Amino acid sequence: MKYLLLLLLLGGLVFVLGARRGRPREPESRTPPPPPAAPQAMLRCAECGIHLPADEALPGKGGVFCSAAHRASFEARDPA
Ligand SMILES: [Zn+2]
Repeated sequence: MKYLLLLLLLGGLVFVLGARRGRPREPESRTPPPPPAAPQAMLRCAECGIHLPADEALPGKGGVFCSAAHRASFEARDPA
Protein backbone atom coordinates (compact mmCIF):
# COMPACT_ATOMS: atom_id res chain seq x y z
CA MET A 1 0.00 0.00 0.00
CA LYS A 2 2.89 2.31 0.82
CA TYR A 3 4.44 1.68 -2.58
CA LEU A 4 1.18 2.31 -4.37
CA LEU A 5 0.94 5.74 -2.77
CA LEU A 6 4.56 6.46 -3.68
CA LEU A 7 3.92 5.35 -7.24
CA LEU A 8 0.87 7.59 -7.48
CA LEU A 9 2.85 10.53 -6.15
CA LEU A 10 5.68 9.88 -8.60
CA GLY A 11 3.22 9.49 -11.46
CA GLY A 12 1.57 12.77 -10.57
CA LEU A 13 4.93 14.50 -10.41
CA VAL A 14 5.96 13.15 -13.82
CA PHE A 15 2.59 14.18 -15.25
CA VAL A 16 2.90 17.72 -13.91
CA LEU A 17 6.47 18.12 -15.08
CA GLY A 18 5.62 16.68 -18.48
CA ALA A 19 2.65 18.98 -18.87
CA ARG A 20 4.70 21.98 -17.88
CA ARG A 21 7.52 21.09 -20.23
CA GLY A 22 5.14 20.37 -23.09
CA ARG A 23 3.21 23.60 -22.83
CA PRO A 24 5.55 25.99 -24.69
CA ARG A 25 5.89 23.65 -27.64
CA GLU A 26 3.14 23.23 -30.15
CA PRO A 27 1.36 19.91 -29.89
CA GLU A 28 1.98 17.43 -32.69
CA SER A 29 1.10 19.84 -35.47
CA ARG A 30 3.68 19.92 -38.21
CA THR A 31 2.42 23.10 -39.79
CA PRO A 32 5.22 25.52 -40.62
CA PRO A 33 5.35 28.69 -38.59
CA PRO A 34 3.47 31.61 -40.10
CA PRO A 35 5.62 33.75 -42.37
CA PRO A 36 6.92 36.94 -40.84
CA ALA A 37 4.75 39.97 -41.27
CA ALA A 38 5.18 41.79 -44.52
CA PRO A 39 7.60 44.68 -44.30
CA GLN A 40 5.80 47.82 -43.42
CA ALA A 41 6.38 51.27 -44.77
CA MET A 42 8.32 53.40 -42.33
CA LEU A 43 7.40 57.03 -42.09
CA ARG A 44 9.42 59.85 -40.62
CA CYS A 45 8.02 62.09 -37.92
CA ALA A 46 8.13 65.64 -39.22
CA GLU A 47 8.87 66.95 -35.74
CA CYS A 48 11.62 64.74 -34.34
CA GLY A 49 12.64 62.69 -37.37
CA ILE A 50 12.08 59.32 -35.78
CA HIS A 51 10.99 56.56 -38.13
CA LEU A 52 7.85 54.71 -37.25
CA PRO A 53 5.57 52.14 -38.88
CA ALA A 54 2.92 53.62 -41.13
CA ASP A 55 0.08 52.28 -39.03
CA GLU A 56 1.38 54.07 -35.93
CA ALA A 57 1.94 57.38 -37.65
CA LEU A 58 -0.44 60.24 -37.00
CA PRO A 59 -1.18 62.26 -40.11
CA GLY A 60 -0.94 66.00 -39.69
CA LYS A 61 -0.78 69.14 -41.74
CA GLY A 62 2.96 69.12 -42.33
CA GLY A 63 3.47 65.40 -42.65
CA VAL A 64 3.13 62.48 -40.29
CA PHE A 65 4.02 62.45 -36.62
CA CYS A 66 4.99 59.94 -34.01
CA SER A 67 2.65 61.35 -31.40
CA ALA A 68 -0.14 63.85 -30.95
CA ALA A 69 2.23 66.01 -28.89
CA HIS A 70 4.68 66.29 -31.76
CA ARG A 71 1.90 67.04 -34.18
CA ALA A 72 0.62 69.79 -31.89
CA SER A 73 4.04 71.34 -31.36
CA PHE A 74 4.86 71.18 -35.07
CA GLU A 75 1.58 72.81 -36.04
CA ALA A 76 1.90 75.42 -33.31
CA ARG A 77 5.40 76.38 -34.45
CA ASP A 78 4.81 76.16 -38.15
CA PRO A 79 1.13 76.74 -38.96
CA ALA A 80 0.59 76.10 -42.63
ZN1 LIG B 1 8.16 62.82 -33.16
